[in-house]
Amino acid sequence: MLRLVNRRILLNILSDRQPISRAEIAKISGLNKATISTITSELLKDFCIVEDGSGRTTPIGGKPPTPLRLNAKRFGLFGVDIRADESILALGDFNNRIVARMSFETGSNASSFLNKIGKEIRKLRGKHHSFIEFAGIGVSLPGLVDNHTGKFLLSVVLPWRDVPVVQLLEKATGLPVTIDNSARCSALAEIWHGKAQYAHVRNLLYVSVSTGLACGVVIDGGLYRGGNNTAGQFGHIPINVNGPDCRCGQRGCWDLYASDKATLKRYSEMRGTGGKRISTMRKLVELVDSGDTAATDAIRETARYLGIGITGLINGLDPEVVVIGGEITKAWGVIEPIIVEETKRNLLAPRSHGIAIRPSAFEVRPSLKGALTLVQNSLLSVPHMG
Ligand SMILES: [Zn+2]
Repeated sequence: MLRLVNRRILLNILSDRQPISRAEIAKISGLNKATISTITSELLKDFCIVEDGSGRTTPIGGKPPTPLRLNAKRFGLFGVDIRADESILALGDFNNRIVARMSFETGSNASSFLNKIGKEIRKLRGKHHSFIEFAGIGVSLPGLVDNHTGKFLLSVVLPWRDVPVVQLLEKATGLPVTIDNSARCSALAEIWHGKAQYAHVRNLLYVSVSTGLACGVVIDGGLYRGGNNTAGQFGHIPINVNGPDCRCGQRGCWDLYASDKATLKRYSEMRGTGGKRISTMRKLVELVDSGDTAATDAIRETARYLGIGITGLINGLDPEVVVIGGEITKAWGVIEPIIVEETKRNLLAPRSHGIAIRPSAFEVRPSLKGALTLVQNSLLSVPHMG
């Protein structure tokens, strides 16, 4: 895992600062020169990075201290972000740039929909022949996923059940396919491509606030999936045993107090007969921005519940960074002080390094970035690429 973390740090520095010399990488990363030299030789051998200027061989008589840059065309990576309403297919290069992107209305028939995606991927492969190789396809799914069987099990937002996503897409494209649920994909995107200060972070909690509430946990640099691949469903921890019934069979789950659905319900109760009738978080945040009292109170109350749940998770998991994703983070100025206040009051142990609570680094579709990162992550987890 250390190897993967170091490769990730090095590739991120290259992506941000290229062209850059080994010495400068050492200065920024804090990694020692021997480690950097080992990783860069491996990456050069695999043509993942190139020495700036030549891009091929170095002059006879040894290697001058030439700067390095990523070989963007080394790998093409496909990311598929499946959501209940609209799904996105993207082709990214090895330098994290999206070179093609298209959206589709998500079909209720999973296999015909995935075959359609497979067909588009074949077309994109034919069109973008400048890539040396296509590394694979990462798929983010809105529900429970079994990584061992490659199946999408079930979801409350999509009528797909027991869908062999990996098998269907591999058959349609001939490329290796990796799947995961959207909260875990988003967590992976944050640790890989979040703000620069995350470069050395090894433990991160991602809280996805959307119709429901789900989490992704990165432990020691890798995604934590659990024994049955269901890890991260913290939305269904009861925070009030006398609370309302939850669809999971328990009562008073965190999800019922802090999800978008809960916030919208709270707003509609608070606004009474007056106020605007709205059905999306985006509209609710607009009302907060315009100074609407009921909307602001509803969101503040959600922030308190987010703080209560997050405090419990910090006590249990001890992450260095907590990242919150979802429309609600557009009202960050309103929710942040309440969440921070709640965690400060109730943390069990003082944190010597503090705890950073931040909105997602990605304004749009962190799970799409996560789908692409799934491919990158599996590519770099193996000792020798290519
Ligand atoms: Zn529940």
